[in-house]
Amino acid sequence: MLELDAIQTFYGDTQALFGVSLTIAAGEVVALLGPNGAGKTTTLRSILGLTPARHGRIRFDGREITRMPTHQIAGMGLGWVPDDRRIFPTLTVARNLSIARKRTRFRAWSLAECFEIFSALEYLMHRECENLSGGEMQMVAISRALLGAPGLVLFDEPSQGLAPKVVQDVMKTIARLKSEGIAVLIVEQNVHSALAVADRVYVMDHGGIVHDGPARELLADGATRQRLLGV
Ligand code: ATP
Repeated sequence: MLELDAIQTFYGDTQALFGVSLTIAAGEVVALLGPNGAGKTTTLRSILGLTPARHGRIRFDGREITRMPTHQIAGMGLGWVPDDRRIFPTLTVARNLSIARKRTRFRAWSLAECFEIFSALEYLMHRECENLSGGEMQMVAISRALLGAPGLVLFDEPSQGLAPKVVQDVMKTIARLKSEGIAVLIVEQNVHSALAVADRVYVMDHGGIVHDGPARELLADGATRQRLLGV
């Protein structure tokens, strides 16, 4: 579904990624972990075309997207749940969701299915988004990604600022996406939650991948987890 081949990404003259390679298969949940400044967000920005890679190649669903504009990449079925949600605050939930609809080669989710996952969402439809709690905004951000008919969803720190119960709901949603055949890349500070839901994990440091393997192995191997992630 997604393949990064030795990408190098820069902010001006400053190099942030030094040859990052990773793959995600259809229906696979992959966690991308690492300390602050390791390059996780830059990896997501490179995939989305927000900060395009200067060297290396990125392929999504069989097509090269390395230097494709972001809207075109999104139109191919790449969904994004950003850490700052990026919801239009003065619009209602209904309006935010209605403008998210897209047709891709992947299955389009219906509003009814989003209500099935997030039962509270149905009762929030006419609220302006600036009045929502953090957990409610996260429901809108995830539903928006699903209405865009994604084959792969990138989650950037989905548990950030959320109550433990809401974090559990988000992780359950990720498991549900997997059961529907949607691939997921999840960047998280919450190492245990991410490893519990992921099939495989990549750990980054200093702009490169320093570890990859099955998530359950890293979950069981406290010494390696401590060395790589300090937890
Ligand atoms: P965090 O968990 O803190 O978000 P991260 O792993 O997502 O960290 P990045 O935000 O990708 O790391 O940062 C990777 C490197 O790129 C860091 O050295 C950071 O200082 C640098 N960087 C990030 N954004 C910019 C920017 N807009 N301009 C210049 N350098 C940047």
